[in-house]
Amino acid sequence: MKCPYCSAPDTKVLDSRNLEEGCVIRRRRKCESCQKRFTTFETVELAMPMVIKRDGRREPYQQDKILKGIEKAVEKRPISALQIERVISNIEKAILDISDKELQSKEIGNLVMMYLRHLDPVAYIRFAAVYRKFQDVDEFVNELKHDEYTQYKIMPVQPKDDSREH
Ligand SMILES: [Zn+2]
Repeated sequence: MKCPYCSAPDTKVLDSRNLEEGCVIRRRRKCESCQKRFTTFETVELAMPMVIKRDGRREPYQQDKILKGIEKAVEKRPISALQIERVISNIEKAILDISDKELQSKEIGNLVMMYLRHLDPVAYIRFAAVYRKFQDVDEFVNELKHDEYTQYKIMPVQPKDDSREH
């Protein structure tokens, strides 16, 4: 690692520490030339799958989209940036459990709902309302009632099967 102060090509690692249960490595480094110390953080960059949209087009997974959706859902709720970061990291792990090649955008939406339900019931309802674009009131009210009983447990959201015939 190049020194950020004097640009010397080599710096010495003084100390390595695992953070976030080993998902992040923090290193204290010292430049042998100018003697200054600095810190680096090492994280894994996961190769995320492609996302298949409703119209069949594929696009690269974009963390930013999920982040924006969640930020909107937790607006004025007592949720910290760190909590949001953790939720996103859990969602990404769950995405990779489904596939590292491609998955449907609605599967991602379902995962976001599942984790938001656990994080904050109000944020969950907000997100679900937007995401699912509830068209009838009954369905929305049913979700509300259900949520009152399950807000402190992780309950998987039943994926809505659009192709099912009634
Ligand atoms: Zn230096």
